[in-house]
Amino acid sequence: MAFGVLAIQGDVREHLEALRRAGVEAQAVRTPAEVAAAHGLVIPGGESTTIGKLVARFGLMEPIRGLVREGRPLMGTCAGMILMAKTIRAAANDQPALGVMDIAVERNAFGRQVDSFEADLEVKGIEGGPVRAVFIRAPVMSAVDNGVDVLATHEGRIVAARQGNMLALAFHPELTEDSRLHDYFVKMG
Ligand code: GLN
Repeated sequence: MAFGVLAIQGDVREHLEALRRAGVEAQAVRTPAEVAAAHGLVIPGGESTTIGKLVARFGLMEPIRGLVREGRPLMGTCAGMILMAKTIRAAANDQPALGVMDIAVERNAFGRQVDSFEADLEVKGIEGGPVRAVFIRAPVMSAVDNGVDVLATHEGRIVAARQGNMLALAFHPELTEDSRLHDYFVKMG
């Protein structure tokens, strides 16, 4: 069975290519049945309020929560990370979210003046030197509970973390040729 990339918004094709470079089959998913059949799931970046509303409208909230409960891997990048969080700061009032990971996130945490930037990050569990991370109107994790392993920080702020079969990244690993984070993710299952 293939890994899925949630195809509502964001860099779907880039995530599919990175997963294939990591050696697994990958396909775009959009329906409850496709999520239920996926070996694992990536939720790309985009606009978290929009993605959350469409996840709810397409009936995908419960299938994605079920995937997590069953131990299949889930990775959220940027807006995807926001949707995974149990607590969202600076949330739109009607922002629907999955609420599966014991983290608090702050949206647009780097401020309006810094729309996007790149940084080299040491990531726990990733061998072979730093990862070039692309941040686009990025959130940060402002708090993590016990049981959440912080994998990377940028200027003291948490930008990558893992809890069991869940991986949350504030940046966009699909936008570089480096697929070490996708390699890491596909081995989490
Ligand atoms: N700022 C967006 C949000 O809050 C996330 C940006 C992104 O995914 N690149 O939803």
